[in-house]
Amino acid sequence: MVVAGGGWAGIAAAAELAARGASVTLLEAAGQLGGRARRVDWGDLSLDNGQHILLGAYQHTLALMARIGVDERNILLRLPLRLEVVRADGSRVDLRAPALPAPLHLAWAILRCRGLRPAARLRALRLCVHLLSSGFTVSEDHSVADWLAAHGQPPEVNEALWEPLCIAALNTPLREASARVFVNVLRLTFLRRRTDSDLLLPRRNLGDLLPEPAAAFIKRSGGRVQLGQRVTGLQIRNGRITGLDTTDGFLKADRVVLALPVVPSARLLGTHGSLASLAASLRDLRHEPVCTVYLRFPSAVDPGTPMLGLIGRTGQWLFDRRLTGQPGVVSVVISASGPHMSLDNPSLLKRVGDELAEVFPHWPTWDSGWVLREKRATFACSVGVDDKRPDHETPVQGLWLAGDFTSTGLPGTLEGAVSSGLQCARMLLADSTP
Ligand SMILES: Cc1cc2nc3c(=O)[nH]c(=O)nc-3n(C[C@H](O)[C@H](O)[C@H](O)COP(=O)(O)OP(=O)(O)OC[C@H]3O[C@@H](n4cnc5c(N)ncnc54)[C@H](O)[C@@H]3O)c2cc1C
Repeated sequence: MVVAGGGWAGIAAAAELAARGASVTLLEAAGQLGGRARRVDWGDLSLDNGQHILLGAYQHTLALMARIGVDERNILLRLPLRLEVVRADGSRVDLRAPALPAPLHLAWAILRCRGLRPAARLRALRLCVHLLSSGFTVSEDHSVADWLAAHGQPPEVNEALWEPLCIAALNTPLREASARVFVNVLRLTFLRRRTDSDLLLPRRNLGDLLPEPAAAFIKRSGGRVQLGQRVTGLQIRNGRITGLDTTDGFLKADRVVLALPVVPSARLLGTHGSLASLAASLRDLRHEPVCTVYLRFPSAVDPGTPMLGLIGRTGQWLFDRRLTGQPGVVSVVISASGPHMSLDNPSLLKRVGDELAEVFPHWPTWDSGWVLREKRATFACSVGVDDKRPDHETPVQGLWLAGDFTSTGLPGTLEGAVSSGLQCARMLLADSTP
């Protein structure tokens, strides 16, 4: 059996198959595993293609890491929920979850949130009560902006709380983002256990979190990992997959998990009549970018918190790279599309550098910087998107579809990718057709 695509979805599928004793080959077009969550090198620094953060609620991802022998404590810093944001005028909003059971911890955090007026906090709390009484569901999908307006959320709360959360989680602007998917994220994060809302910040590059230990695990378990091998076609006969065309030739396979991004998936599926409508539904998905700006200072800098929200600026979240053993380096994330995408890199570096100088006037001037733009970072989580997302099963026997864009109910996230890969592996193993 073959898994095509070595992002976190494909890695999860291949690791699960290998763990269950199946003979699996993982094919990846690039020279390394990881896909949209991978290590990149910048001079002497080992960075990521984009700053990532995980949540305590990422149960599939965390369980997979444990299964392949990765100790969470060595690679992630686990922090109880704390959201601190600084407004354009320098004032701060600070929300901290106390050690109470979920979802009381969220209610208490909102009630005691510093930097929001009492009336605003009460409105936010009322929305939490509504979420609880509705079982964290949205009957008819509409935009997060409309949903917040319908629940009387004041601009003060939207700006400091809901908007930064929505953009970070859905990578889609409020006026377009799906309220249904946003509420799914809130349910996953806040309803069950307090630790689900923990923030897990990488202490190593992304390659060390999953891709590299997973490759070693797959090989140890008897599987193969083939890098630099691109899938160029699917061979289908009598409604069954029979193999893959690759840059290294034809590979026979009667069971395949296709774990590629949306665009190459649609291209491969679109050449077969029975998969044409599936390919067409993939072409309906739009994408949103994520831009990460790394700045290096001549000496260590201290933002005072591992992660700081920046409101009313181009940069959205600032991360302290001392966590990854890189004092003097910070990363600034800008999710979703916006005017920053039409700035060239030197202008964007200057803009973000100037913004940080305003927030931290005592910091030295940065001396080098790097911009990483992932133009198709995630699918756009827009209103109604869940109706367009494909299932894992396809009309072709022996062919399953994995990836963050499949029907996981989650936005484009590591957890969505991993859970889709695991699900495909389980469906494949349960398939008893000869
Ligand atoms: C900058 C950035 C920041 C993000 N931040 C977060 C975050 O903080 N938290 C979070 O949970 N998620 C975050 N995400 C989303 C997360 O990274 C993705 O949801 C996840 O990595 C998607 O994994 P995937 O396996 O579905 O797809 P991909 O990672 O796209 O994997 C597909 C793989 O297929 C390979 N491939 C493509 N074509 C072929 C072919 N023809 N043959 C063989 N191989 C092929 C690709 O090289 C790639 O390795 C972020 C994404 C980006 C880009």
